[in-house]
Amino acid sequence: METILQAENLRRSYAIGKTVLDVLKGVSLEVGEGETLSIMGESGSGKSTLLHVLGGLDQPKTGTVAFRGRSIYGMSSPRRARFRAEKVGFVFQAFHLLPELDIVENVALPAMALRGGREAVARAKELLAEVGLGERIGHRPQELSGGEQQRVAIARALMNDPDLLFADEPTGNLDSKTGEKVLHYLFQLVESRRHSLVLVTHSREVAARCSRGLHLKDGVLV
Ligand code: ADP
Ligand code: MG
Repeated sequence: METILQAENLRRSYAIGKTVLDVLKGVSLEVGEGETLSIMGESGSGKSTLLHVLGGLDQPKTGTVAFRGRSIYGMSSPRRARFRAEKVGFVFQAFHLLPELDIVENVALPAMALRGGREAVARAKELLAEVGLGERIGHRPQELSGGEQQRVAIARALMNDPDLLFADEPTGNLDSKTGEKVLHYLFQLVESRRHSLVLVTHSREVAARCSRGLHLKDGVLV
């Protein structure tokens, strides 16, 4: 399997007043093309920090992250912003939809600049149909249930057809039945399009849906 993402010896700490909290203490990992990888770990173990570092959102203190052999923190910051827009998608626990926009506009937004409005809106509608929300076009996020809002967020994350999708506890705010439905759509889309996926969860059942699993403990992956 070709490698899509390679991280080596990542370290990241937070300074809180005069104390320093070391969160990542030398994390290395590889993600294969088309692979689905789960990362488990207790609350506060650094899973979100790691995902942000891997996705180009947060520069580590030391270590490298390479996307198809190219160091993402070696890029200029506009180049890295473009990398994030074109190559990766993020799904967060708390949906992060914009309340003043309807769901088509929310999904289309990341592609407005890259594709132009008409094409972006057409693709947004297709993606919403694929997550089972074709009948809800024109609704605003607050008119939808939590599970439906997360399906909108998944459609948005896939808007620019990313090669690599990051999901940070995507069902963490949902009851298990609703979460199951969200995962159904997520895995269906990821597997049919052969996206690579890095999924953070603290549920064993969710992790079991991925082809491989790692555990973040005491600042390193095991
Ligand atoms: P997880 O996602 O596994 O729950 P996080 O990566 O969110 O863990 O956080 C790891 C640790 O770093 C936690 O102890 C958290 O309180 C701390 N932390 C996270 N972000 C910050 C920040 N911006 N400033 C200070 N401490 C932080
Ligand atoms: Mg987290």
